Amino acid sequence: MTSGSSPRPEVLTVRARRLLPVFLLVLLVLAVRQLWWLAPPEAALGGPTMGTTWSLRLDARGRTRADLAEARTAVDASLARVDGLMSTWKPDSELSRLNRHASGEPFPLSDETFEVLALALAVAERTGGAFDPTVRPLVAAWGFGAGARAPGQGPDAAELAALRGRVGPGLIELDEATRTIRKRRPDVECDLSAIAKGFAVDEVAHALVALGWQAFLVEVGGEVAVRGERPAGGPWQVGIERPDAAGRELHARIALVDAALATSGDYRSFYEQDGRRLAHIIDPRSGRPIEHGLASVSVMHRRAVLADAWATALGVLGPEEGFALAQREGLAAHFLVRAGEGGFESHSTPGFPALVWPPVPEPAVEE
Ligand code: ADP
Ligand code: MG
Repeated sequence: MTSGSSPRPEVLTVRARRLLPVFLLVLLVLAVRQLWWLAPPEAALGGPTMGTTWSLRLDARGRTRADLAEARTAVDASLARVDGLMSTWKPDSELSRLNRHASGEPFPLSDETFEVLALALAVAERTGGAFDPTVRPLVAAWGFGAGARAPGQGPDAAELAALRGRVGPGLIELDEATRTIRKRRPDVECDLSAIAKGFAVDEVAHALVALGWQAFLVEVGGEVAVRGERPAGGPWQVGIERPDAAGRELHARIALVDAALATSGDYRSFYEQDGRRLAHIIDPRSGRPIEHGLASVSVMHRRAVLADAWATALGVLGPEEGFALAQREGLAAHFLVRAGEGGFESHSTPGFPALVWPPVPEPAVEE
């Protein structure tokens, strides 16, 4: 060690003076980078899934863009998992393989599909078979869903009778112990389209909570769940559309707190035949598309999977029977019934939130 190796104080000062602008520039770049990397207070994400779209609003205060990217990856994974299991459009989904399994031998199911089928059968039982996960042959025969025939050629009486023999909740049997399903007829086919989107919403919500997100609104194909509150304060608000095939106007908004909302209607997916409107919701009791004046039913429930199933179930049952059952079951439901000249009447069961009017749309938020 030599004393001459340590620089004199004056030299240090000169060097530091020279380096100061560089140092400040680095600081500035870091600050700008940090700002840019901060997520907006209310962030919005979205994308395509399950033949429809998903969207997400997050309270992202104090979070970074990297956190948002992580959330997106988790959402994509949850949705891909549900779609890969329960799609009737994907030939190698678990459901498609089950539908091709033309045998009375037990078929092993994933935990998720088992759970969704069990919930579907529970709603089938509560509705006397109005909701039915085995409805697929009828759905396809009336021109809806994957593998459907061209619309406009509904089945004749003989074919309808044959198809109805293949449909009924009693034709499938779940075994809790082995997590398998058994068909009582080899030609039974299942359809989870009326419940899978709701399940996907719950799965996304669980994934986000697991990542530490506490306040968000998640939506898949119109089925919604919320947790916590908006970053600006107050509950998340969700729009209920006017059941009108042409436009996308709002009928009302409601405030949701830690709950899910699903809507089922005949106004989006239908076709006209001989001046009649044929909806994609089938009444398994007649084997035909529903034909009553009910335009849409919205159900609020703690679990999106049940909100979704019940919305379709009440949609099958119609304005009178459905409303009466919703009341007996203690369901929070809102019915929109056609009332001539393009008008609507609406009725809520006691548990349904108050409608917010006017239904001003939410402002757009930053991606
Ligand atoms: P959306 O898919 O428009 O949100 P739903 O949740 O009501 O509407 O699901 C409608 C789908 O459910 C139909 O396209 C069909 O695949 C299936 N489906 C039709 N009728 C029934 C029924 N009675 N029970 C169960 N599922 C049904
Ligand atoms: Mg549904």
